[in-house]
Amino acid sequence: MKHSSPSSSRVGGAVPTPILVLGAILLVAVALRLVASARSGSASHPEPRPAVTAASLLPSVRYAAHPRISQTYDLAREIPQVLDGLYCYCHCSEHSGHRSLLSCFEADHGAGCDICLREAELAHQMHTRGESLEAIRAAVDAAWGV
Ligand SMILES: [Zn+2]
Repeated sequence: MKHSSPSSSRVGGAVPTPILVLGAILLVAVALRLVASARSGSASHPEPRPAVTAASLLPSVRYAAHPRISQTYDLAREIPQVLDGLYCYCHCSEHSGHRSLLSCFEADHGAGCDICLREAELAHQMHTRGESLEAIRAAVDAAWGV
């Protein structure tokens, strides 16, 4: 017994759905990429809290076995207001909920992150030379922003 399949006789006029879905996914991907590349150029630095202090920073003796780390925690302790005005380019504000570079030194996070350490060292160096927060932000953007 023979019979023809009913589906073979159907000829659709519209674009098949899978192609539409694929097109939509592609458009979203392109849009997301544009947003990401626009953002990578200039990060948004937080405004430093005027009353911020180093009271919540971890003590540097905690890292006595690692001189560079303990030194940098000491540097951070000297300039809490500067660090509180800096975006940390390890992007911890996105993945760890940090407010600013200062947050990295309120936990062990900074001790294990070369970007946090170098950014704090640079900030301290420039601040000691009398450079403004704006100048420090620009240097940080130039070093890690692209
Ligand atoms: Zn960080």
